[in-house]
Amino acid sequence: VMPGELTTAIGAIGDPEGVREMGLEGLPGVDQVIPISRPYKLASSELSHHEPTVFDVDGRTVGGGETFCLIAGPCTVESPEQTRAVASAVAAAGASMLRGGAFKPRTSPFSFRGLGESGLDILAEVRAETGLPVVSELTDAAHADRFAETVDVVQVGARNMQNYGLLEVAGKLGKPVLLKRGLSSTLDELLMAADYVLKEGEERVILCERGIRTFETAMRFTLDVGAVPWLKLHTHLPVIVDPSHASGDRRLVGPLSRAAAAVGADGIIVEVAEDPEVALCDGPQQLYARDFPAFAAEVSAHAELVGRRVA
Ligand code: PEP
Ligand code: MN
Repeated sequence: VMPGELTTAIGAIGDPEGVREMGLEGLPGVDQVIPISRPYKLASSELSHHEPTVFDVDGRTVGGGETFCLIAGPCTVESPEQTRAVASAVAAAGASMLRGGAFKPRTSPFSFRGLGESGLDILAEVRAETGLPVVSELTDAAHADRFAETVDVVQVGARNMQNYGLLEVAGKLGKPVLLKRGLSSTLDELLMAADYVLKEGEERVILCERGIRTFETAMRFTLDVGAVPWLKLHTHLPVIVDPSHASGDRRLVGPLSRAAAAVGADGIIVEVAEDPEVALCDGPQQLYARDFPAFAAEVSAHAELVGRRVA
């Protein structure tokens, strides 16, 4: 019991679930009940799981503080030639993994929504040719088996961060899950979404800060750089940054990627195209493949400043 001048605080230790059911807040003399423990359980660094989560994706180490993961590739798989060209350019410049959407969640149903299954076939071909592990977004539980066969990391996009059925499906595929923060989701909500994947037994979850909606409209979204060190304090999961979707502007992707490295991110996921002018989706934010080597060198120099190497 902690008596104060106007109020008396009472500290209680134990399972917070039971406390909620007691209805203390309605009792006379009780002003408020303030939960101190965090609402996310499995993703929390506070409870059972104190060590940082570290795992390998085909030899590339994710998490753990020694490596920086450079995931790069086109926004969308458009053709074998386009995907192959970008993949070989980013592979030659030391990228860790290849990104590319086969099923695209588009704001309008009339926009190009990706090649679908044949996009996954192209990713599998390019994966075999370049040796780069592949990250692609699962948008529908109906495609789960194809994803389990084809991709190395299953992405759950910002628009599906709170699609709880899809999170449970993603958690059952036996593949690491890259979970992007929702457009208007708090970090507590992101970590509770991660709990949906973790509770299915998939411990390899990568969180991704990809920019959020704020009053600021100058950029596509507002990159919440502070989310990275905050997440590092509150969860054991690896954290990466998507500067491409956050800014919507390739001229900002370099500085934001370097910022991500500086604040302790475990990596970045960036969009790259040979000719972004003709890309079917997100052209303005895609780096030119010819600029990627210089970009990668600068980012890895920043990662080295904080004791990490691109892997
Ligand atoms: C993507 O990475 O292809 C994508 C659609 O990103 P987000 O879900 O963050 O908008
Ligand atoms: Mn995109």
